[in-house]
Amino acid sequence: MSPSPASKPAALWLQPARERSLLRRHPWIFSGGVARVDGAPQPGDTVLVRAADGTELGWAAYSPASQIRARMWSFDPAQQVTDSFVAARVTTAAERRGALLGAGGTDSARLVFSEADGVPGLIADRYGDTIVCQLTTAGAEAWRDVLADALFALPGVACVYERSDADVREREGLGPRVGLLRGTAPSPELTAHEGGFRFAVEVEGGHKTGFYLDQRDARAAVAAWAPGRRVLNVFSYTGAFSVIAAAREASSLLSIDSSGPALEVAARNGALNGVDVGELMEADAFTALRGLRDRAQQYDLILLDPPKLANTERQLDKATRAYKDLNLLAVKLLAPGGVLMTWSCSGAMTMDLFQKVVAGAALDATRGSADSAVRIIGRLHQPSDHPVPLSFPEAEYLKGLVVQAN
Ligand code: SAH
Repeated sequence: MSPSPASKPAALWLQPARERSLLRRHPWIFSGGVARVDGAPQPGDTVLVRAADGTELGWAAYSPASQIRARMWSFDPAQQVTDSFVAARVTTAAERRGALLGAGGTDSARLVFSEADGVPGLIADRYGDTIVCQLTTAGAEAWRDVLADALFALPGVACVYERSDADVREREGLGPRVGLLRGTAPSPELTAHEGGFRFAVEVEGGHKTGFYLDQRDARAAVAAWAPGRRVLNVFSYTGAFSVIAAAREASSLLSIDSSGPALEVAARNGALNGVDVGELMEADAFTALRGLRDRAQQYDLILLDPPKLANTERQLDKATRAYKDLNLLAVKLLAPGGVLMTWSCSGAMTMDLFQKVVAGAALDATRGSADSAVRIIGRLHQPSDHPVPLSFPEAEYLKGLVVQAN
């Protein structure tokens, strides 16, 4: 994979001044920052990155089809990117999750979070003895076998399954690829254990790698707020929040999702945990929320976790209106003293902007009553196994607000 010492490595030369972000350890090189490429690197090949004056800046994975033309493997020009280098990145990332895994009966966590763990293009989620991974870039694709071996070599791993079917692969000129990578086939009954709860993992057909590991901290927040409350779980997916709310004795529970199969799994998740997840409604959330509003329904705890509504900055305007509509409807459904937990998992939506959107929604929802106010009482973020390097804020994508009405 790596250039043999004798051959001259392909080199990517930056435009003048475009080394600045790299000197701050930001790992992306955009196509507009590239002056020229020497040699004929193939997609995923490792290239030496040079500033306009020839200074060697490090090594990067080359993605000729993508606007993100290269992603840094290393900021040390003396560090060759070899099999053992790449494997060690995976092992070290997994070791960093040591404190999380095993604590409180939790056996599931994201082991590798792409650039945030120095392995651009690799997502690897562990569920017990099974790892489900996603390769999203040409660089990760080129190191597929090394990555698979490194994941399979982690202690207690029986299976590495590939779910490289995310849309982002298209931007890298890669087609979808799904299937067993190493070991024995994953159990159809695979579950994620988390703090005494069990959740079905939809390895083959589910969202992401089969479960929303990134809402772990939110599940704890739901557990704290659910007791005795009328709970509305909008965009429930497989009902993880609903299971928690039911176990914590919510007084009533309604889960809404447009996916029938996801709701079937929600019912199964209830059974797995010995709780009744209450009413499951297969519906479009926008329509369903309007229906509940028209019937003057009220809830004490509303969870609003829509899918990614903006994939890019360009889609942000439209997405902002959708977020506002949803939050406006949700605030209207809050009982006095009711709490809304509301999220955006669009990377393009910053916490600042999201807060403004929710503020606008709350204002419009409460215009009728002059002395009403909606307050932020908490903020929610992606959990510790989805870290955000200070040098790479783009890793932050999931943000939530906990707000309370008068
Ligand atoms: N809160 C969930 C994850 C939600 S993912 C958890 O913690 O596991 C987003 C969900 O929104 C998916 O299940 C998807 O099926 C659903 N969805 C997408 N568009 C929808 C729509 N218009 N109406 C209702 N549900 C929708």
